[in-house]
Amino acid sequence: MHQARQNRTNRDARAILSDPLVNKGTAFTEEERDSLGLHGLLPSHVSTIAGQIDRRIAVLRAFSTPFEKYAFLRDLQDTNETLFYALMAQYRSELLPLVYTPTVGEACVRFSEIYRRPRGLFLSYPLKGRLRQILADLPFDDVEVICATDGERILGLGDQGAGGMGIPIGKLSLYTDCAGIDPARTLPVLIDTGTDNEAHLDNPLYVGWRHRRVRGADYDAFIEEFVEAVRERWPGAMLQWEDFAGPNAVTLLDRYRDRLPSFNDDIQGTAATALAAVLSAERLAGIDLAEHKVLLFGAGAAGCGILALLVGELEKRGLSRDAARRCIHAVDRDGLIIEGINVAIPGQALVARPSAEADEWLSCGRAPRLLETIERVRPAVLIGTSGQFGAFDEPVVRAMANHNERPIILPLSNPVTRSEAAAADIQAWSDGRAIIGTGSPSNGAHGAVTQVNNVYIFPGIGLGVLVSGATRITDDMFAEAAKALASLQPEGSGDAMFPPSEQLAAVADCVALAVCRVAERDLGAIPPLDGWENAIAKRRWVPAYRDALPSAQS
Ligand code: NAD
Repeated sequence: MHQARQNRTNRDARAILSDPLVNKGTAFTEEERDSLGLHGLLPSHVSTIAGQIDRRIAVLRAFSTPFEKYAFLRDLQDTNETLFYALMAQYRSELLPLVYTPTVGEACVRFSEIYRRPRGLFLSYPLKGRLRQILADLPFDDVEVICATDGERILGLGDQGAGGMGIPIGKLSLYTDCAGIDPARTLPVLIDTGTDNEAHLDNPLYVGWRHRRVRGADYDAFIEEFVEAVRERWPGAMLQWEDFAGPNAVTLLDRYRDRLPSFNDDIQGTAATALAAVLSAERLAGIDLAEHKVLLFGAGAAGCGILALLVGELEKRGLSRDAARRCIHAVDRDGLIIEGINVAIPGQALVARPSAEADEWLSCGRAPRLLETIERVRPAVLIGTSGQFGAFDEPVVRAMANHNERPIILPLSNPVTRSEAAAADIQAWSDGRAIIGTGSPSNGAHGAVTQVNNVYIFPGIGLGVLVSGATRITDDMFAEAAKALASLQPEGSGDAMFPPSEQLAAVADCVALAVCRVAERDLGAIPPLDGWENAIAKRRWVPAYRDALPSAQS
């Protein structure tokens, strides 16, 4: 007993139980309980992690709504991260829709209702001028991956203010679950520059800065202060920009992509995921993309990223820029995008119909809408990133089916309430012939429906950047990541474009390898002597309890 007291570190036993990174709950061994002074604070039974998983999954399943299950999982994550990730690894396909889309959307809207414990960093505008010191004071020295949002465009749900924090928390959970990034090295950040969401401003429970959004030069200066503070505190850390509204998303990416390893998942991650889906679907349909047309509906931040990668892919296949552009069309709010008529943002110009063709396209007095464009262009592929629920209605899907033996239809908008179409409807209206990919998980009446979600790309991008030490994240990393993902299309699984979610860890490794190779080819990254594959495998953090005895920690 005396010896045990001597061995005891000066860490308070209760602090150990409240630190989710070291807590094991009932799995602390007798020896650890002796040494750390945990007796009396825990029930007598010493559990294994397998026993804890059995208990937690049973409790989880007893909740009736996805939101309740989400809240339970967040509580577990804030209590015992190792157990949370062990549960994720064992039940990934069941838990992924809870931790991430679609449930995370509701969690952001109702974030203030379930807020309980601090996680990550809330940097609100009134703290301006103090960010450097705030980051310097944080007890996190080893941060490698930061995911930051200002909460203005959460999924397709618009401005959620501080509630947007649900997204960086969810994304970083997947960096750990899929790519094996140590959770102690990840940091979710909410840059709280206010909200223009009236419901939140009026809600007495709202936890964010109750103020209209700061915009313009003040906003830019606050982001600049944040980035400089990050670069100083964690040089080399990777920054993922997440769910910023369209114009800010593009501006911030352009401004910072060469100053620190950073990318925007909504633009670049979505583009790579969509390109991978198109490449897989092309194979399934037995067509050559270069000989067909692609139509994108909703050319905003995500859509323009997809357009750029698609044009790049066709150019790599030997098409001229003009020929590649002729293969790809886009429809936005004001119909088919035409040069000099309705180009709203720079990214749309890439695939705008040339102004020389304007008269021909405007023959009915305005730019053709979605259905009219399908009838005139006869695309083989229809992609939706508009956030417009039900936009791919029966006439649209039937038109795609009339013109194609195997129409490829990808309603990518999230969450389900923003999806352009339900998979079961597309199947019914296309007589089961469509190859379908949806943004959120969905069940078709028959045949496989692929979840075309960024989770297949971003964890591997992050892992590849960390392993290769890349100082920039290039467009070609996303193009090669897309090809790597498409190469994993499972044989003999019907119309499945991607492997099942159970294999997301293997997917992340494969994507990471593609990223490392681009870093080696284009940025001079030097492969380790035993190769990139081994470096990737060795980096993986696994959710298993470590010995908590003081001697083991020194
Ligand atoms: P955004 O606001 O930048 O873009 C939406 C675009 O749709 C805009 O250009 C807008 O003008 C257009 N639009 C709106 N109403 C329209 C209409 N009636 N007809 C035609 N066009 C219309 O948003 P974003 O970041 O590009 O995201 C769009 C959607 O894509 C969201 O629902 C988001 O959840 C989804 N998304 C899915 C994934 C995925 O992994 N599946 C990834 C990123 C984004």
